[in-house]
Amino acid sequence: MDLKKYIAEIENFPVDGVLFRDITPLMQDGKAFREACDALIAFALEVGAEVIVGPESRGFIFGCPVAYALGIGFVPIRKPGKLPRKTESIAYDLEYGSNELHIHADAIKPGQKVLIIDDLLATGGTVKATIDLVERLGGEVVGCEFFNELMELKGRDLLKGYKIKSIIQYD
Ligand code: IMP
Repeated sequence: MDLKKYIAEIENFPVDGVLFRDITPLMQDGKAFREACDALIAFALEVGAEVIVGPESRGFIFGCPVAYALGIGFVPIRKPGKLPRKTESIAYDLEYGSNELHIHADAIKPGQKVLIIDDLLATGGTVKATIDLVERLGGEVVGCEFFNELMELKGRDLLKGYKIKSIIQYD
């Protein structure tokens, strides 16, 4: 199945100059969404993930089905003011704007093998900040995977030394 045709491209969203890749048509098609999740699950098995970590909010959409399929836990990374208990936090830059990410301080066990999942790799800022949070809690990042990767933004350059996988690439 050509999964790329289920990704809508919207010009100048959410700000001028950005071509936004929208995964909602993929999510609306049961077979396409299952195929996308199966591809992500294959990598999760390959790297021996013991827990999935996913940034708000599209990391939840792909991360939770993978965690369910492997029978392992899912840990959310959230924007400020969303997690109810003690958190670790980090400030980071986005493709458009900046933000701060939080993780529950007790979410990862020391030495636990963590796979980070998000919908899209652009500059790599979001996943790099997520890696830093996981490692601060003592987790071992065994891989990072994405449904979409925007190759020209060279996010992989920020992630040297980590196993990276994407299902669909844009030049
Ligand atoms: P990065 O931090 O620059 O790698 O940007 C990746 C993050 O921004 C991910 O959490 C994405 O969900 C979001 N993002 C950036 N560009 C797009 C896009 O074109 N479509 C959907 N999400 C995007």
